[in-house]
Amino acid sequence: MPSLPAITIIGAGPAGALLATLLARAGHPVDVFERRPDPELGPGEGGRSINLALAERGLHALRQAGVAEAVLAKAVMMRGRIVHVPGQPSQLLRYGPDDREVLWSIGRHQLSLELSRAARLAGASFHFGHSLEDVDFERSQLQLRTGEGHRMTRPFARLVGADGAGSAVRAAMQARHPLGERFEPLDHAYKELEIPAGRDPAAPFAIEAHGLHIWPRQSYMTIALPNHDGSFTVTLFLPQHGPAPNFDSVAAPSAARALFGEEFPDLLALMPEFDTDFAAHPVGRLGTLYLQQWHLGAQAVLIGDAAHAIVPFHGQGMNCSLEDALELAETLLDPTEEPGTLFARFQQRRKPQTDAIAAMALENYIEMRDSVTDPEFLARRQLAAELARVAPQHFMPRYRMVTFTRLPYAYAMQRGRQQDQWLGELLRRYADPGGADLAAAAAATRLQLAPLQPPS
Ligand code: FAD
Repeated sequence: MPSLPAITIIGAGPAGALLATLLARAGHPVDVFERRPDPELGPGEGGRSINLALAERGLHALRQAGVAEAVLAKAVMMRGRIVHVPGQPSQLLRYGPDDREVLWSIGRHQLSLELSRAARLAGASFHFGHSLEDVDFERSQLQLRTGEGHRMTRPFARLVGADGAGSAVRAAMQARHPLGERFEPLDHAYKELEIPAGRDPAAPFAIEAHGLHIWPRQSYMTIALPNHDGSFTVTLFLPQHGPAPNFDSVAAPSAARALFGEEFPDLLALMPEFDTDFAAHPVGRLGTLYLQQWHLGAQAVLIGDAAHAIVPFHGQGMNCSLEDALELAETLLDPTEEPGTLFARFQQRRKPQTDAIAAMALENYIEMRDSVTDPEFLARRQLAAELARVAPQHFMPRYRMVTFTRLPYAYAMQRGRQQDQWLGELLRRYADPGGADLAAAAAATRLQLAPLQPPS
């Protein structure tokens, strides 16, 4: 058998490390260069826990690499949203009918650790503490710098840029050939804070562990996701500028404390290190990256955030990046694919999907910070849940298609629009959705909407 071509991956985040595992297992020689230190040496970023919601697409990709079980063992199940509105008891809005439809909160560090272990076991070589500075595409050479400041060059045959939103591979590709890049910044930014674990090892969580907590405040919001050690990562999403409150108006910790005292007093009481954390943690930028072209012929390709960074409001950026890695591995391993057009084929299949999730993630922001308290939204949500129960072949809420199935994102978006129009029509018919004639609504839905079907 001829030996498989060597693959060089820049970035050992979720996309890069998963791709390394899948390709090394199939027999490709794989080298991964990663700027950060080896995760085996402990968490970076000052030991902070930063977590991500893992959903079905990401889980499926992890299953293909045999790491899902190890990852889930360190994750916390989130059964639904727990919405905190002043003057009302907080309530759990379950994602699905039971624990088969749940999200998993996993620490970034833990995920990196499990994925890099699996990739190394499969035979991939990792070079941690190596930052890519530039790529010479003429000579097929990488220019790297080590953590100690040493410069070196390394040859490559096929290059994958999995180095995140600020991708150095993308910058080098652009210098060679325009990729049609456009970045649309969001006027909102974020800051991560922490609710520490309690002292009692039997009950370390200060608030309900098994939910994704949201404090919606219309033009801004705070969320909290549980960590395996009993702490919570709290993220404040706030406009950068404009009418207060915004990140400019709360630049001083005293102003931030006043905002939290007023708007999130329950949360503030749980964050003893609030002032220090607020002053020390950076404000993160958010936005959507659009790229017309993800590849340079058969020489280099971008995946994950490097190709299509999105806003985090659908909790799909990592899930989508893991799905990218799986799809690229399948394309590379498909013996019927033409080697010269592999990367073009990957982009052709994948880009309509990532464009769709980029749009849905932006739409979901309004829903999370604003609509979850809106009576009309809640009525729609209730009717949608009922229709999904009585006519499951014909109706599935879009959030569920995106989060708990692997139906293509573009299909979920198009089908979601169709269903939304139909819900509007039904709500006009039934003034009180609670009292709607469900049997009639189900029958009408079966006539109106074709059975759910993934496009072939
Ligand atoms: P990254 O995770 O960015 O990994 C890139 C890797 O490349 C890093 O390890 C980096 O150190 C390395 N690197 C960068 N430059 C170089 C270089 N020059 N040389 C060598 N190495 C380099 N997604 C979800 O699915 N669920 C969530 O709940 C969720 N929550 C989020 C919350 C926030 C606040 C944000 C900002 C994002 C969130 N996301 C979430 C999105 C998710 O973080 C990203 O989509 C995901 O991390 C992308 O994975 P990646 O492997 O493409 O890139």
